[in-house]
Amino acid sequence: MSGFDPTCRVRNLDRLADEIFDVLVVGGGITGAGVAREAALRGLGVALVEARDFASGTSSRSSKLIHGGLRYLEQGEIGLVREAATERKSLRRIAPHRTAVASMLLPVYGRTSAGLYKLRVGLALYEKLAGVAAAERHEVLDRGDALAAEPHLATERLQGAIRYPEYQTDDARLVLDTLKSAHHAGAVVANYVTVTRLGLAGAPRIVEVRDEESGATIPVRTRTVVNAAGPWVDDVRRLDQPEDAPRLHLTKGIHVVFRTSDLPARHCVVMRARDGRPVFVVPRREHVYVGTTDTDYVGALDEPPITADDVAYLQDALQRTFHGITATSERAIGAWAGLRPLVQEPGKKPSEISRKDEIAVSATGMVTIAGGKLTAYRRMAERVVSAVAPLVGRDLVASRSAEEALPGGDLRGAHDLESFATLPQVRAALGALSAETATRLIATYGGDALDVVATATGPDPWSPVTAAVPLTAAEVRYAVRHEMALTLVDVLERRTRLSYFATDTARAAAPAVAALVARDLGWDERRIRREVADFTRRCDARLAWRNLTI
Ligand SMILES: Cc1cc2nc3c(=O)[nH]c(=O)nc-3n(C[C@H](O)[C@H](O)[C@H](O)COP(=O)(O)OP(=O)(O)OC[C@H]3O[C@@H](n4cnc5c(N)ncnc54)[C@H](O)[C@@H]3O)c2cc1C
Repeated sequence: MSGFDPTCRVRNLDRLADEIFDVLVVGGGITGAGVAREAALRGLGVALVEARDFASGTSSRSSKLIHGGLRYLEQGEIGLVREAATERKSLRRIAPHRTAVASMLLPVYGRTSAGLYKLRVGLALYEKLAGVAAAERHEVLDRGDALAAEPHLATERLQGAIRYPEYQTDDARLVLDTLKSAHHAGAVVANYVTVTRLGLAGAPRIVEVRDEESGATIPVRTRTVVNAAGPWVDDVRRLDQPEDAPRLHLTKGIHVVFRTSDLPARHCVVMRARDGRPVFVVPRREHVYVGTTDTDYVGALDEPPITADDVAYLQDALQRTFHGITATSERAIGAWAGLRPLVQEPGKKPSEISRKDEIAVSATGMVTIAGGKLTAYRRMAERVVSAVAPLVGRDLVASRSAEEALPGGDLRGAHDLESFATLPQVRAALGALSAETATRLIATYGGDALDVVATATGPDPWSPVTAAVPLTAAEVRYAVRHEMALTLVDVLERRTRLSYFATDTARAAAPAVAALVARDLGWDERRIRREVADFTRRCDARLAWRNLTI
């Protein structure tokens, strides 16, 4: 589904200047994207501006799990358990291409089987509360079955394991799908546009935004503003109420990526870190990632650094859970770090702070949303739009957001990507491609893989950008022409996820990818060099800890 291209961005900048909106959303992460979609589907006039690229904040750096909230049961947050479970089902309905079943395996260690029994009781309670379907209920594995399922599990005091399904997503692409859906419902959406002044409350309020491409300032007229700026929420609140005290407590979480040959996990294995926190090992195609940490963070928000201590914490959990693996820090092939924009709860440790979202309306009528989870973004958006409606004095049409498929979610009647791949029209469209490319297209674009093939142009769209890189010219062009990618980093970090999962490969491919993008975006040699240098610097910074002794 196309129509989300560079010319669309230029048109949208004109529309930002010309129209009067009901709501201007600040921030193009999952929270803002969800609000823009919900508001547009319910009949409001919507604009969304994102200061950098869509999903470039926390929403491309999560653990990428859509989870039913089992973890919240331990903290007694029953409301969150119910909401996460319901939203997990809604997401599966509207985005079957972004909710691959991830089989979780929780090994249980101890002197007796009491721990296993306690977990069974907890899971049975969770499944009742969450209304889990019979096919998705947990199963208990004895020690022998647990080892057959995960042969590299440490054996000492292993009692058995619990297996249950969750979903794995692609966070940045889920944001993109949600924004495309908002765009199709009429929202005016633009990346690289920063809110710099909020202006006085009025009817309408005049908000100044800066186009980061041209440097131009655009006054935007809007009846309300929604602050969905994630870790930057306090900065945007200060534009509205300069004297307000900070409300956010930022915590950092990192992930490290290995080849499956170094960490041959078959499930998402739930490990216990040295402080008792759950830490995940998540297989994703030919890679496995491990995360995450949860530590207080103060510092620059754009690229939080990964330290040797962060990595040592994950390594320690790996060493205690597995034996015979070669996943040492010098064999890592990718990594990322993100910030949780949590709402302050004085006196609590990072991992104890609630993941609940909080909505506040300021004296000037700005609606701020902080906290929350990727999993529950649609429901959070419903709540925000309910808070906005009385401020604009508009009746809303009924919500379709839990029913209407996201772009890429129309699998032509198939219920998952595996059966979609076997449909005759899909085999006919993708049949000429290599099996590797066809599989990657389906995993990346879902039902829109057909659109990628139909719009592929150029002399040899399906040859790899360089011999060693599993990425084709057609995918790079699609990112620019149909997904509003404006920089090399946009293409390699978020449209494709190459630089997070295979950083060295992405670094090697950067000059060739930049040359392809240059043709579409009219970059000269100087701009190409700048883009490659900027991308390389980010890759180096993300893996700088590999050279340190842990
Ligand atoms: C390590 C980690 C693991 C996680 N794992 C999971 C998980 O597995 N499952 C799950 O459900 N949740 C998970 N989460 C939580 C989830 O990722 C976050 O709740 C969610 O991504 C927050 O999205 P957001 O849109 O609020 O913030 P962001 O994604 O950061 O978006 C905010 C955006 O606002 C923009 N912005 C800021 N200032 C301005 C301005 N002045 N003008 C315009 N734009 C502006 C920023 O550039 C940014 O892109 C995890 C979080 C972390 C950190």
